[in-house]
Formats: sequence, C-alpha cells, structure tokens
Amino acid sequence: MTSNRRTFAIISHPDAGKTTLTEKLLLQGGAIHLAGEVKARGAARRARSDWMKIEQQRGISVTSSVMTFEKEIDGEVITFNLLDTPGHEDFSEDTYRTLTAVDSAIMVIDVAKGIESQTRKLFEVCRLRNVPIITFVNKVDREGRPLFEILDEVADALALDVSPQNAPLGMGGLFTGVLDFASDTVTRPEGGSKEFLGKREPLGDLPEDLEEEIELTKIGYPEFDLEAYRNGDLTPVFFGSALKNFGVEELIEAIAKWAPPPRPQPAGEEQISPERDEVTGFIFKVQANMDPNHRDRIAFMRQVSGTFKRGMKLTPSGLGKPIAVHSPILFFAQDREIADTAFAGDIIGIPNHGTLRVGDTLSEKNDVRFTGLPNFAPEILRRVVLADPTKTKQLRKALDDLSEEGVIQVFYPELGAQHIVGVVGQLQLEVLISRMEAEYKVKANLEPSPFATARWLKGDDKALDEFEKFNRANLARDRDGDLVFMAKSPWDVNYQEEKNPDLTFSATKER
Ligand code: GDP
Repeated sequence: MTSNRRTFAIISHPDAGKTTLTEKLLLQGGAIHLAGEVKARGAARRARSDWMKIEQQRGISVTSSVMTFEKEIDGEVITFNLLDTPGHEDFSEDTYRTLTAVDSAIMVIDVAKGIESQTRKLFEVCRLRNVPIITFVNKVDREGRPLFEILDEVADALALDVSPQNAPLGMGGLFTGVLDFASDTVTRPEGGSKEFLGKREPLGDLPEDLEEEIELTKIGYPEFDLEAYRNGDLTPVFFGSALKNFGVEELIEAIAKWAPPPRPQPAGEEQISPERDEVTGFIFKVQANMDPNHRDRIAFMRQVSGTFKRGMKLTPSGLGKPIAVHSPILFFAQDREIADTAFAGDIIGIPNHGTLRVGDTLSEKNDVRFTGLPNFAPEILRRVVLADPTKTKQLRKALDDLSEEGVIQVFYPELGAQHIVGVVGQLQLEVLISRMEAEYKVKANLEPSPFATARWLKGDDKALDEFEKFNRANLARDRDGDLVFMAKSPWDVNYQEEKNPDLTFSATKER
C-alpha cells in the first residue's frame, strides 16, 4: 500500500515568501484548518470544539502549527500535512524539532536575493536528516537575477544537482508568463491583477534572446531523477510567484508525485515501517501555554505507524505507563468518518500537563524507542548526590539507562566525581528520583549545580585540546563521551563563543 500522506515543511529566509506561498497552497487544496477557520459539520464539530476550547480559553494558537489540506491529483486524493517552522530571525530549536517530523521540504528562495543565511542553515538541518528538497524560486514577477545565476548558486552553495522544471518568460516589467517544461504550456498574467487565473496555452514563438535562455536552462542542467531527489542529491527547481499564483500548481503536483510518503523511522538498529500494525509516533514539539498560570501543553506527535483512534492508550517512553488519548487534536478532522482516526504521516496534538516531552516515543506496546531525535541543551542542571556512597555503580547504570531513554541528560564533569543531570523541565527530575529508587534501588538527592546550561563542543582536535587545557573546571563528557561546555549563564556561552571562533557551541545534539 502506498500512503496518500505527504508531510512537509517550508524552509526559507524571512521575507522570501513563505507565508504567501503557504496561503496559496492552502487555497489550492481544500484547506481544512485555515487560520482559525474550520468547517464544522457532523462529526467534525466535536473535534472543532476541542481545539477551539483549548485555543480560546488558553490563548494558544495550535492551528497554525499544522495545516492540512487535500487535493485530487491524477485521480487520487492526496492529504498534505504542512508543518509550520516558526519564522524567527534566529535559528530556533523549534524549527529544528519540526524538521525531524517531516518527510520532505520546500525551500523558498527570493529570485533577487538567492540563498540567504537562514536558508542555508535550515538546508543543513535537512541534509543532516536526508530530507529531500524541492526548490521554489519566488517573485519572478519582479526584477530578479538571471536564471542560470540562481540555479548555479543553489548548486554551488548547497552542493546539490539542480533540475529546473520551468522557466519565467522575462522578469519584472518584462514578465510575460511561466513556461512549464513537462507540458510545454505557458501560464500568463491575466486581468488587472496580472495573476495566473487558470489559463494554460501552448508555447508559441518566443523572442530570440528568451528562446536561447530557455534552451540553455533546459539542456544545461541534469534531468529530474526521482532517486537522486529522494536521496537528497538533487533538487527540482520551480520558478514562480507566490503572490501572483505562478508555479504553485506545479509545485503542489510535484509534492504529490515525487515527495516521499511517510518514511520508516530509525529506532535503534530497527527501522519502524509505516506499515507496522501498532501505533507508534514521537513527540517533536511541545507548545506551552501562553498563560503561565496553566501548566497545560499541547504535545505534537508525528505518527510513524498504525491506525490511531480517539481514546486509544499509548505509552510515552518517558513515563513508562500508558495514557489514554481522549481529546487528540486531529488537524484533518473533517465531516467524515476519518475525524477520529489518524494514519502514519499525520500529526496528532495531545493536550497534557507536562507528561509528554520532546523526543518521547509513544507506542501501543511500549516496545519502540525512536532514535535520531536531537538532544537539546538542558535548562535545569543538578548535581546528583548519593545517599549511600557504595552504590556508585548502580547510580551510573541508572543515569546511563535513563538518559538513553531521554528521561534526563547526564554529564560527567572532567573534574570531581559528582554526576550532573540536565533536564528541560522540573517534572523530569521527579521522574528521575522515583525511577532510580523503584527500578535501581538507588537513593539520591539532587542539589544545585553552579551551571545554568550546556553546549556541545565541536572543532578540530587542536582547538578542542587548547580549550580543554584552560577550561577543565567547566567541561564534562556526556554519555557518549562527547565534550560539553558547562556554562554558568547564557552570557558565559556568548563570551566563550566570541573568544573561541574556531569552536562551535551547539545547543543541540543528534541522538
Ligand atoms: P515570509 O517572511 O517568508 O513569510 O514572506 P511573506 O510571504 O510575508 O512575503 C514577504 C513580502 O514579499 C510580502 O510583502 C509579500 O507580499 C511579498 N511577496 C511574496 N511573494 C511574492 C511574489 O511572488 N511576488 C512579489 N512581487 N512579492 C511577493
């Protein structure tokens, strides 16, 4: 069975046109959840009231995190799950997390600006995770750089093969439409708004200079190759205008045709296939309440396998006992029987009080642990002090096991014998203490540590050795033996970053 799900994100530098393109994609398809608006009929009403209540009472916007729409393409209804990557200027953890949950991405580039800093960073994250990319070169209705210049820049800057699928006929004031290579048809600006309104014409005669440019664009680059694209070695490139609707239809068809359906996800040595019967998934994002008086959160689970049904019991790896998922937020809840059901590739929002954490696996049988999810710099660091000093071995085992599960992170300082545990939320510390006692018979106390956060260090051996010589008191090794800088404050991180340009101080680490 091939899945009709396409779960993807848009990556771009601010202002390239991500928001505009998102709107156009939603309009193309039958958008189900669209900026606070939802069709509420029949069975969908219940789903609607769930998330509306949550949104209104608690002031959080969950609808914009996941946008689901459907479109019939070549006789098959495709369900698109578009995950929003927050549009901060800064490269954020949240963005990284979201990219762990998609199967492919669209990279939007401004035709006048080319590859920008944020595009490059996000691209690197995609490459790290083998996420295949379709490129959309936006704003061809305006003055831009020559086609080959943009194509070569993408190829050189990102070390990718580029395969143009269409070409604008002129840009800016000279823009007269977009030529689609596969169908040899042209879409042209129509009406007062000069938008594409649906008319496709066969390609007639072109002015000589334009014909030459198009010919070179067609023959100068590799042909599309599905395998190369899915391996992340090649990106098909669409030129277009999100604002004027050029290239958007072609883009959406490309996602339907080429973008991978839900992919197997690594769990240790195993790969969990989307065809597996039991429901499995992992939490890639936890949205805390805007109102600090409430501890409610929405955890976003990317479903990896199985058929999820409302009310189902799933066991989160960080908790060890099952929870019933009674009021999931299903982003595709429509006026149909699927309203209470979700499949591999879908995203389920699970309201909770802090029990679910980023990186948690959820499964029906508690027999799967997804790996390859990133670790994030802890926000709370505590020294572990044994009540019975003869139990150091058991303590080490407990800390190693529990960090393996993602319950905590553990750091072994280069100086001194005490272990330090790091967590992102207080609740993890409580879980740690009670599980150490119950499962490992280790009684320990957690005491304040002088550290506020941690950064994974990367650099060449010489730079690392040099840094180690002078900063031993602030260095630790994590469970894998990787070097970690223990910072007393965020300021401390900035200071060391500036002082040591040869080293990177990373707030995340791939598990
Ligand atoms: P984001 O920051 O990437 O989400 O970018 P937006 O979608 O908000 O777009 C940034 C600006 O570019 C807005 O003023 C848009 O109207 C404009 N814009 C987006 N797409 C196009 C396009 O295809 N052509 C033109 N001329 N302007 C565009």
